[in-house]
Amino acid sequence: MGEYKILQQKRKFYDSGEWKRIRTEIKRRDNYECQECKRNGRVSVDTNEYSENAKRKKIQLVVHHIKELEYHPELALDLDNLETVCVDCHNKEHGRLFERKPNKWEHDERW
Ligand SMILES: [Zn+2]
Ligand SMILES: [Zn+2]
Repeated sequence: MGEYKILQQKRKFYDSGEWKRIRTEIKRRDNYECQECKRNGRVSVDTNEYSENAKRKKIQLVVHHIKELEYHPELALDLDNLETVCVDCHNKEHGRLFERKPNKWEHDERW
């Protein structure tokens, strides 16, 4: 399976109504906070949500697949495999996993 085909499949998935619905559900479950920041004792919230903190920090949240979609398509919509993280942590997360391709995943899960 070529990389292009995988990209097309991912694009289709991230564009699906199901994903958009579950993404909203996950953010709500996680209180619009970055779970990774929370683990490190910091709090980051979505800029779409009104708060003083958000206005100051301008943080955008994405819903991340803990086990990669590409390798675990069966967990694509599994609530336990999804968590809310901020863009910074998300980039770090993927940067660590895919050190040789640091930019490939940057905008993935924003859709
Ligand atoms: Zn974070
Ligand atoms: Zn991710």
